[in-house]
This record gives sequence, structure tokens and C-alpha cells, in this order.
Amino acid sequence: MAHIELDIIEKWDCCICLNKIEEEKIVNCLQCNSKICIECFEKIDKKIKIINNELNTSYNCPICRFEMNIELIDINNIKKYNLIDYIKKYIINLNNNLLQSELNNTLLFNKNQYLLYYTQNFYNIIKLLYIIDKGLFFVIGMTIYFITK
Ligand SMILES: [Zn+2]
Ligand SMILES: [Zn+2]
Repeated sequence: MAHIELDIIEKWDCCICLNKIEEEKIVNCLQCNSKICIECFEKIDKKIKIINNELNTSYNCPICRFEMNIELIDINNIKKYNLIDYIKKYIINLNNNLLQSELNNTLLFNKNQYLLYYTQNFYNIIKLLYIIDKGLFFVIGMTIYFITK
């Protein structure tokens, strides 16, 4: 009889998928005390938040919207909330964004160099055009002069 009671205490229904969950795989809200299973927890939208210099994953309780923060770099949390894939994805994403931003900055830098080059050489280009123009005028002028002579 005592054993059956223990079973009832240790098992809960996930309030999202309604599956039975075991105590160690439970995520419960600190405000409304609603319980969700680890699989449903993994699917909830989360964002990274820095609280007291600690990296946290932050999400809103699907029932009462209370904000829950879980410290990420904590081996007990990593185990309890099955966070290893989440952390991996976060790091890979961060790395890709960093590479992308580096690439964009390099492109921007090159574009600026290009622009700077043309701005600095603008006077020279105009001067060259002026010389060509004058030269052309001179040639045309001389041709007309010799033709009409
Ligand atoms: Zn669930
Ligand atoms: Zn709640």
C-alpha cells in the first residue's frame, strides 16, 4: 500500500503533452507550480540572459507566463534540464554569427577602402579627363586647321 502511494507522489502529468513524468525529469514553475516534462521543456522558446554575470536560459512558463531563469553553466542544471544540446546549438550559432560578422566587416572594410581610393584619386581622375579633353580638342582643332587650310 505504501509503495502505491509513493508511485502516486512521484509521477505527475505534463500540463502540455499530458504524459506521465517522473520526478527527476520534471520542470516545475516557481509561481503556479505547473509541471512540464523535459521533452516539452526542450521545445519551449528560450533566450539567453546574463544575470549576475551568469549565463542563464530564460523562458516563460507556458501556463502563467512567469519568467523562469536557469543557470546554464551548472553541471546539475545541465543534467537535470538536459541542456547539453541547447548549449551546443547556442555555441555553434554564436560561432557562425561571429564568422558572419567578421565576413561582413571585411567586406565593408574593403568597400570603404575602395571608396577611399576613388575619393583620393578623384582629383587625379578629373585632371586626367581634363588632359584627355584638352588633347582631344587640340587634335580636333589641328585637324580642322589642316583640312581648312
Ligand atoms: Zn510534456
Ligand atoms: Zn507558471
